[in-house]
Amino acid sequence: MTRQALDDLKQQIPLLRYLHGHDWSPVRPLTRGRWMGRCPLHEDHQPSFLVDPNRNLFYCYGCGRGGDVIRFVELYHEVTFSQALALLQQWRGNGPLLQQTARFYQVQLNRHSEAVAYLDQRGIRSPELIEHMQIGYAPGGCLRGWLTQFGHSLAALRQAGLVTGSGYDAYVHRIVFPLEGNLYGRSISATAPPHRFLPGSKGGLYGWAEVQTSPEVVLVEGLFDYAALWQAGFRTITCSLGTRLNRRQVEQLCDAPRTVYLAFDADNNGSGIQAAQNLAQMLQQRGLDARLVLLPEGHDPNSFFVQGGDARQFHALLEAARS
Ligand SMILES: [Zn+2]
Repeated sequence: MTRQALDDLKQQIPLLRYLHGHDWSPVRPLTRGRWMGRCPLHEDHQPSFLVDPNRNLFYCYGCGRGGDVIRFVELYHEVTFSQALALLQQWRGNGPLLQQTARFYQVQLNRHSEAVAYLDQRGIRSPELIEHMQIGYAPGGCLRGWLTQFGHSLAALRQAGLVTGSGYDAYVHRIVFPLEGNLYGRSISATAPPHRFLPGSKGGLYGWAEVQTSPEVVLVEGLFDYAALWQAGFRTITCSLGTRLNRRQVEQLCDAPRTVYLAFDADNNGSGIQAAQNLAQMLQQRGLDARLVLLPEGHDPNSFFVQGGDARQFHALLEAARS
């Protein structure tokens, strides 16, 4: 990348907009248009993160780190300089569009009783959880019109995979969860394929930023499992969105010594258990303490809680995996 291309990239992605897109908001204004807020790079109890939108720079008085948007991406996502550039280019392409889509779907959720009923049936009721995971609903037949009215071209919507080749909304009757650079859509209808992602990577581990400093994490394979555990009060959970981890997810899990509890589906044909065993072995070879959580047969963490399991019982399963 040339110097000029780097400058263009930084100019097209204002640091403040990128921070907003990653759930950062300032706590108070300072002089000369600058802002102060909590540092997203570490646990920060009082605002020590300064953002200067005019110079497109940040500096943290807590951890002493600072720089431009590329430096921020390197630190925040723990990636190399060239990976940071790739993430930013991807974000420049689709980020704002996906964010706008996710927000639109969030608004739809409470307008569609079939969506609320589906969540209820999967045990998801807590408004805090719905807010935390930014859960939305894609009714179908309305996204394209809404986005084009904001100036997004049909070509861009097709390229992002939000609209099909024939011009219809790609997600119809799906519960939608925003991911890093993607949207996961779970069909509420039994006749459609249950799981869908937009084209491109599913991203890293779900919710990783919140658990990466924890010495123990519980890894689940589905977002409804994550949701059930979160609602039951567990906070050191992460999700791989399938039993197959991509390279980035493996790197995240292995970036520090930690204990990983694998709580995959105990499906009747044993494939979930097999996948968990293979993964545990691979993580152990990389120096992690990986433990298998044995759920009652035929259960995943979501159905465990839906069918009456409680936090104390799940704690007992974790405890049993310890020994
Ligand atoms: Zn800091």
